Amino acid sequence: MSTLLVKNAQILVTMDDHRREIPDGGLFIRDGFIEQVGPSSELPQDADETLDLAGHIVLPGLVNTHHHFYQTLTRVVPAAQNANLFKWLTTLYPIWARMTPEHIRISTQTALSELALSGCTTASDHLYLFPNGSKLDDEIEAAGSIGLRLHASRGSMSLGQSKGGLPPDSVVDSEEKILEDSERLIQTYHDPSPGSMVQIVLAPCSPFSVTGDLMKQSAALARRYGVHLHTHLAETQDEEEFCLQKFGYRPLAYMQTVDWVGNDVWFAHSVHINPEEIQVYAREGCGVAHCPNSNMRLASGIAPIEAFLRAGVNVGIGVDGSASNDSSHLLAEARQAMLLARLNAGLKGASLSSTGSEIFSARQALELATRGGAAVLGRKDIGSLEVGKCADFIAYDLNHLDFSGGLHDPVAALLLCQSHGVDYNYVHGKPVVKEGMLLGIDIDKHVRLHNKAAAGLMEG
Ligand SMILES: [Zn+2]
Repeated sequence: MSTLLVKNAQILVTMDDHRREIPDGGLFIRDGFIEQVGPSSELPQDADETLDLAGHIVLPGLVNTHHHFYQTLTRVVPAAQNANLFKWLTTLYPIWARMTPEHIRISTQTALSELALSGCTTASDHLYLFPNGSKLDDEIEAAGSIGLRLHASRGSMSLGQSKGGLPPDSVVDSEEKILEDSERLIQTYHDPSPGSMVQIVLAPCSPFSVTGDLMKQSAALARRYGVHLHTHLAETQDEEEFCLQKFGYRPLAYMQTVDWVGNDVWFAHSVHINPEEIQVYAREGCGVAHCPNSNMRLASGIAPIEAFLRAGVNVGIGVDGSASNDSSHLLAEARQAMLLARLNAGLKGASLSSTGSEIFSARQALELATRGGAAVLGRKDIGSLEVGKCADFIAYDLNHLDFSGGLHDPVAALLLCQSHGVDYNYVHGKPVVKEGMLLGIDIDKHVRLHNKAAAGLMEG
């Protein structure tokens, strides 16, 4: 049994059902779970460890709902810098095909380091290529050194070019092998209990890289074990045309034919979605991983996030892979979600009130990155600072240049100002970042290793 007292936060943002923001707030934590939340003066003063966060804002750790860690090795590749999705993919597939287990391990640590420093405490990743003996195990093992919760998606591609898919045959696998490995990973790593550090997700890559049969069989396997399902959907106009031509359905309707709707399913992007389809998401309980930077980077379009939210759909934030962002800065991604929702409202000619109250707010964006992401991943034990939930919290020093002059509303300042990295990041009551320093890794040494691996991959 160990206890941690967090006290004197200038403001503690709970994101609870009442959205309480507590001045001079704190937490009392026992064995990684929150036992009390409230003003510091009302909390027990005796604890094994005390963290005085005077002058800081404290909030729930952020949840990332979509990523491809391995892509940190192929950021800013010149030939893919100015391409749309399909051209970008066909440029990068041959480079990704050269990856080894070592590349998976190095890139995992890079992405998780950036995520941790930008406020993330739970990260979802989608690994869908396994060249040269790579396995999802490589990612899971490497993630342990950083200390974030991980939802590791066992991705897959089975529809190569020779069968009408987009990826070259060299990066696709047999469906038998994919399903066998998926089941092995669930049995080996999936922990559904409260406070779980690792969960497995089944995630065939996209309609244009897997067969309908693999989609159906993956859904059946996931439901047999109670694990979640994830894929890319309705990301681009090209994908919509591919689905209409190959399957005779729009992307979401195609998902319905392969048993891919339900509250155990979340889709990355969901850009090209019409009002009737939004109602299907709402009725079936499908979640959305909104990736604004990637959608802008690849000129994919603007996801109708406010319409999803009005319909009651769970929406979280995802940084997406680092070859289409090219960053893993989660708080900055939430900021982009706020700005893009505002731009979308302006483009649609929405009548905005003179008070600005109808404009997508900083608090709404923060909600997507916390509660929203937790709901999308199906986690009831994270996403807010409440009694019984995991002690996953982050803190920012408010006396920092980035917020200077913006402390009329410190919560909004986090999003409206461009924030620096976190000063503290705790997962399950344990420090991942302290005084702005990442604890699990020598980051300077790691960056040298990562750059060398990235250069080697480009050379072939
Ligand atoms: Zn993606």
